[in-house]
Amino acid sequence: MSVVPGTPLGTEEEYIPGANTVLEGSDIYASAVGEKNIREKVVRVNSKTNVPFMLKPGEVVVGRVAEIFEPVALIELQWRRDERGRQVWLPGYAVLHASNVKDAYVKNIHDEVKIGDLVRAKVVKIQRGDVELTVKERELGVLVAYCTKCRARMERKRGGFYCSNCEESEGRKIAEYGVEGFV
Ligand SMILES: [Zn+2]
Repeated sequence: MSVVPGTPLGTEEEYIPGANTVLEGSDIYASAVGEKNIREKVVRVNSKTNVPFMLKPGEVVVGRVAEIFEPVALIELQWRRDERGRQVWLPGYAVLHASNVKDAYVKNIHDEVKIGDLVRAKVVKIQRGDVELTVKERELGVLVAYCTKCRARMERKRGGFYCSNCEESEGRKIAEYGVEGFV
């Protein structure tokens, strides 16, 4: 089971808090992105985001929305561009918090990005191996969206996306420039 910082993992009555967890009252929460693991009553998170050596704050990356745990989206990293414009494939995952989607308040991150979407994002910070992303800037956000009803690739239309297969329109935090050269 994939978890992000803040995902409830259980209570102190059930488990002993282990690596990459925090205890608040008697509740245990994840403090890193990774896989929940329980062994001999110890609950821990095996970190998946160990990529800081390949990334630094300010870098632009492309990733795919893997899971949503309100108010956070878990982004499976895909690639960044090096100085010569070549794709450098990235391992691991990063997190996009609802507060890093727009300057305006975002209540539900699933209104702005959806599972399967390809997003262009910028690294805000890297802390204890966890990579935090932002899509606040105009050129950042969803590049490619898939219809939540039929999974067809959608077209960009009027600041959102349109599915010509089932005639569904869906909103996103859209990246304002085209997808050329990125996808
Ligand atoms: Zn559709």
